[in-house]
Amino acid sequence: MKIAIIGTGYVGLVSGTCFANWGHHVVCVDIDNVRIEALNRGEVAIFEPGLTNLVASNLESGHLQFTTHLDSAVRGADIVFIAVGTPASNYDGDADLSYVFEAARQTALALCGRTLIVTKSTVPVGTSERLEALMRSVRTGIEFEVASNPEFLREGSAIADFDKPDRVLIGCESDRARALLCTLYRPLADAGVPIIATTRRSAELTKYAANAFLATKITFINEMADLCEKVGANVDEIALGMGLDKRIGDAFLKAGPGYGGSCFPKDTVALLRTAQECGVSLRLVEETIAANTSRKRTLGHRLSALLGEPLQSKKIAVLGLTFKAGTDDMRNAPSLTLINALQSAGAHVHAFDPRGMKNAHALLRDVTFSSSPYECAEDADAIVLMTDWQCLRNLDFQRLGATMNRRVFLDLRGVYDVDTLVNRYGFTVERVGYPVRRPHEERVIRINRRVLYIPPGTDVRNGTRNLFDASFVRKRNANDRKELDHD
Ligand code: NAD
Repeated sequence: MKIAIIGTGYVGLVSGTCFANWGHHVVCVDIDNVRIEALNRGEVAIFEPGLTNLVASNLESGHLQFTTHLDSAVRGADIVFIAVGTPASNYDGDADLSYVFEAARQTALALCGRTLIVTKSTVPVGTSERLEALMRSVRTGIEFEVASNPEFLREGSAIADFDKPDRVLIGCESDRARALLCTLYRPLADAGVPIIATTRRSAELTKYAANAFLATKITFINEMADLCEKVGANVDEIALGMGLDKRIGDAFLKAGPGYGGSCFPKDTVALLRTAQECGVSLRLVEETIAANTSRKRTLGHRLSALLGEPLQSKKIAVLGLTFKAGTDDMRNAPSLTLINALQSAGAHVHAFDPRGMKNAHALLRDVTFSSSPYECAEDADAIVLMTDWQCLRNLDFQRLGATMNRRVFLDLRGVYDVDTLVNRYGFTVERVGYPVRRPHEERVIRINRRVLYIPPGTDVRNGTRNLFDASFVRKRNANDRKELDHD
């Protein structure tokens, strides 16, 4: 088939490249000239594992092309997918459909021959009808239909998700549209993937319902984590016990800092707006949004309580910035809320992320970006783990702790073994869903106005020279030595 994809973001680029890889002729369009020029050189602006190679091989085979000219891409296409962004509007958080409408308007002007227009973007129920009306108002006499085919891929595993999804939803109002989309997705159907044919309205709403449900599941386990911290239960054991129940399932039962990202925050609010417009109360969704928002806002207080002192002038090392591992996407990342809270409280924030620092740079001010987690932790009063990147799962805690001002660790992803951190490395630790643990013998000595925190197990009996040489001493300069000797 000849396919045009409008929008080359996380969804459009992955979809277009995968369709090309299935053997179709795909032209991807974007208004971002720089992005398209780079794609034509085989350079992919977003980080998505495996995508650069797949783009390169399909460019080379000639199945995949990139352009800024929507009219030439759309003309003669069998199917035009709209995969542009639908961010939350500044006004009330409802889905901003201006990019979708503009793409549809331009498509209407360019169409020739019978074409199926398909929304892959996440759009509120009823949008297909609005698009159809808009396109007819722009140009009469064109032959087209609008169908809905919401996308469920996850950033970080987008190619695998696209090639082997749990299901494909196609919302159509005619047999012809349904048959065309069934033909397109036949390789998946042959591989046993359920292809669900619904009305357009059902397809549109299913996407929001699925995202709202997942957001609720995350919020539920987060609230259980809060309870576990108070009653001394273990949230991971709760999640395991719940998740093995087939009626519940174990996905999205990992306690953390609260959901973020480019979809859940905006989609839950947009769903709520739709319901409000219809006079329907979605109390569960409303509470999910409220609970998640307040969870993210209290992360700064959580850290201050763990430190036992105000955050003013503290140096905080934030490890991981993206809203989840495997992506460079910083949209609505919980790290943004945390860092804003830390900075408002007067803390100095140093941050490390293996992929997200470029995007983070554009969104954050006065953050010092580090080239490694170890550099990030130097002189820090505390570390916060925000994203469970693989490279942050196996840190050398001896090395980290050696240069820190205080060994305090807030593990918001539940990655590290608390006993090891406390007993072997002398950290004060809060792991989400567990009570705070402090080393029994954390000692503090004050020298003039300086405070040194001595990790447990450190032998300080051999005089100041040994004490000074010990790795926990913050600054090894002549003044320190003088102060210590004097003391
Ligand atoms: P994105 O912001 O990464 O990409 C959107 C792209 O569309 C941008 O490159 C932009 O320049 C381009 N664009 C905007 N207007 C255009 C126009 N008139 N013509 C051509 N290009 C245009 O967005 P995304 O994350 O890929 O999301 C796209 C849609 O898919 C959204 O509705 C989103 O909710 C949905 N979705 C996203 C994900 C995800 O994981 N990101 C998953 C499922 C569904």
